[in-house]
Amino acid sequence: MPATLDPKLKLALADRIRYYNELGIYDFYRRDVSARENTAQIQPEERDELPRAKSAVISPKPELIDISASPESSISDPVLALRAIREDIGDCTRCRLAKQGRKQIVFGVGNPRAELMFIGEAPGADEDQQGEPFVGRAGQLLNNMIKAMGLQREEIYIANIIKCRPPGNRTPERDECETCSPFLMRQIATVKPKVIVALGKVAAVSLLAIDAPMFELRGKWYDFRGTKLAVTYHPAYLLRDPRQKKETWKDLQMVMKDLGLVAPPKSPE
Ligand code: URA
Repeated sequence: MPATLDPKLKLALADRIRYYNELGIYDFYRRDVSARENTAQIQPEERDELPRAKSAVISPKPELIDISASPESSISDPVLALRAIREDIGDCTRCRLAKQGRKQIVFGVGNPRAELMFIGEAPGADEDQQGEPFVGRAGQLLNNMIKAMGLQREEIYIANIIKCRPPGNRTPERDECETCSPFLMRQIATVKPKVIVALGKVAAVSLLAIDAPMFELRGKWYDFRGTKLAVTYHPAYLLRDPRQKKETWKDLQMVMKDLGLVAPPKSPE
């Protein structure tokens, strides 16, 4: 990077930082492009919703992925179909993440006939350790969100855009998402949820192939290959900025209304 910034770029950066400050975001991380592959530890809750370099924005163009010839397409039982997808993934070495310290593939968990599917970004350390999505701190918050919707974790299906933990919990690279997302498309096509909720910007941008700030992406419905899709904040982001829980609850209420769900009465403290 040059020692002095181009004045125009400097102004644009100042403008951008002011914009994020207005959204309540004050911590920024300078990411050296050449250091992207290193394993500097970034906590999962630090990696979401922060301004991301354009190159980190991912758009697998899922509409271009043809899954009609997948081995599970002739299997009507979703339990067996999901098993077939998992078997097809095998001990995957299709992208560099296989050699960058991931312990195991984190496939997805939950009801194979779920009406509601949550999709996050990528496994973190806890998920990599346990082989299940959203089992760390962000997962506990997601569990609370699910409970607040009047549901139990086992009733829904949870997956991520990519199935292997990126080193240091860095943002998934575009090609990693492109390699992995066909399997997620097949999981979606198998589970056939009525509603998908994309958790955080990476999931939203990856699924919808539109890049916009979170406040613009959330609060509305999208059509994702014939399935309704809503976007809300990633639980890891909510751990950093609990003020956004209110907005998240609005998004979840929109989903609940669509699914005919009623929030359970609050238990006395
Ligand atoms: N963050 C994610 O996006 N997915 C997980 O499974 C855990 C944390």
